[in-house]
Amino acid sequence: MLRGIAGAPGIAIGRAFIFRPEQLDFERKTISPQEVDQELVRLQHALRQAHQELAGIYARAMSDLGRDRAGTFHAQLMILEDPTFESELISIIRSGVNVEGAVGEVVTNYVQMFEDSGDEYLRERAADYRDVGCRLLRILLGQSWTPVPRLKEDSIVVARDLSAPDSMQLDRSRILGLAIERGGRTCTACILARSLEIPAVVGLGRFVHRVQNGDLIIVDGSKGTVILNPDPATVAEYQHRRETYLACKKEMQMLSDLPAETRDGYRVQLLANIDHPGEVASALAQGAEGIGLFRTEHLFLGRDTMPSEDEQFEFYVQVVQKMRGRPVVIRTLDYAGPSSPFFQPMHYEPNPFLGCRGIRLNLNFEEIFNTQIRAILRASAFGRVKVMFPLISRVEDLRRAKGMLRQAQEELQLAGKKFDPRIEVGLLVEVPSAALTAELFAPEVDFYSIGTNDLVQYTLAVDRASAGINPLHQVLHPAILRLIKNVIDAARNSRKKVAMCGEMAGEPLATLLLLGLGLDQFSAAAGSLPEIKKVIRAVTLKEAREVALQALQLSAPEEVRRFLEQEMKSRRLYF
Ligand code: PEP
Ligand code: MG
Repeated sequence: MLRGIAGAPGIAIGRAFIFRPEQLDFERKTISPQEVDQELVRLQHALRQAHQELAGIYARAMSDLGRDRAGTFHAQLMILEDPTFESELISIIRSGVNVEGAVGEVVTNYVQMFEDSGDEYLRERAADYRDVGCRLLRILLGQSWTPVPRLKEDSIVVARDLSAPDSMQLDRSRILGLAIERGGRTCTACILARSLEIPAVVGLGRFVHRVQNGDLIIVDGSKGTVILNPDPATVAEYQHRRETYLACKKEMQMLSDLPAETRDGYRVQLLANIDHPGEVASALAQGAEGIGLFRTEHLFLGRDTMPSEDEQFEFYVQVVQKMRGRPVVIRTLDYAGPSSPFFQPMHYEPNPFLGCRGIRLNLNFEEIFNTQIRAILRASAFGRVKVMFPLISRVEDLRRAKGMLRQAQEELQLAGKKFDPRIEVGLLVEVPSAALTAELFAPEVDFYSIGTNDLVQYTLAVDRASAGINPLHQVLHPAILRLIKNVIDAARNSRKKVAMCGEMAGEPLATLLLLGLGLDQFSAAAGSLPEIKKVIRAVTLKEAREVALQALQLSAPEEVRRFLEQEMKSRRLYF
């Protein structure tokens, strides 16, 4: 039995398919000074084409896998846009080396540096560099994409590593499970497996050389173990365990029709976070009572032209109509990253996450913002739409955004277009200054929603991209709990509803605490809603309040975690 890291729960029994990604094969040649210019032109062409290909893949991955999961393609685009990367290539070419040699050298250096670091996040970065390198070399050699051999039957994919681009080439409907040598809980393979709901074990260490295509394999993604060529008795035992696991999962899904209500009858609402209209069906199937966060970036990224008002309207109205009168919170554009064809920053931003993103981007690019609000307003005529503004750090910005909303309403009125004149306006609380002064926003907003992903990043000074691997990224930090309490109290005092749409809302470990603090709505990835509901239905509000009170007394994040784990275990809730 091989032991690795439990990456995605469940048990798979099936035949092995060994997946081998592209290799970084290149020929290094010396070139004459006369050939340098020509090689530089080839480099520019390859960089441009690679960028174009990746932007397309990124857009596709956003719709297939969702924003967070498509992040690796964004990271690869950033490598191509990195001026240091490009200048390293240019200087090697200028020293008399062909482009292939320069790409091979620069990429190998990065890959080695990141792989040697021993840090899981950095090892993922190595995979990104390797993929970018392979793509550039393929373009330079004029080769077309080498498709990975198709999965002919339902199989367990066995690989040293599985990057996001690799995974896009596999026929997902045929993957029964994953057994991967590298990676940890937040690697691409795990994220893919969790979104496809297939079992995965990663971090198994060297073992692929012991496997042949077609070998029988058991993957236990709940325990983090893999068995190669098991005997019939073991197969029977795991088949039985697989059936028990599936029955349990079905029981959870049956919860989707029951209300999110505590044992003493206190009712909260469970909402889903989505990026695309295609996700609505799954949200409804998992029991979502509305959409608590509809991120709109998807519509804007990976393209050269602005989405028109009509195109945006079509995108939003699809969700609104599918939700049939249930609330849909549409968040205006929040984009932080490399410059795009339509958002050229006024000046170079060394740190875009502290720069022109969220509401600042909205207000800086008035025409784009106005087009978006008009489209949202028009969609509001077809259901229950609410609009939410991101990254608000001060009241003036909210007032200005609301002023523009009013102006758009007047324009639509004059044009005879329908919209909801009483559309609710929400404040996404994700900057500490807004959380600390939440009560000052009360006269300006209809509801609050707490975005813990950014709130943790900005409060604890820890990059959100490292969530899950960086031990300092702690949603249970006492500072975060106090900020959440402050927002909830401010909302309650002003009789406004308060939601949470950051990842914390989908963490069963935090459910008791959030319920006890008085949160009205939990908005999370659809897949986590049944578990959250199970916790809510198993407790009373009184118990939850007691838990919240005690958690607030603790001084260290780890103490809060241990305390909550204990509370869950004592109720047989922690799985
Ligand atoms: C958040 O920051 O918690 C949030 C919900 O917004 P996003 O993850 O889209 O930045
Ligand atoms: Mg955010």
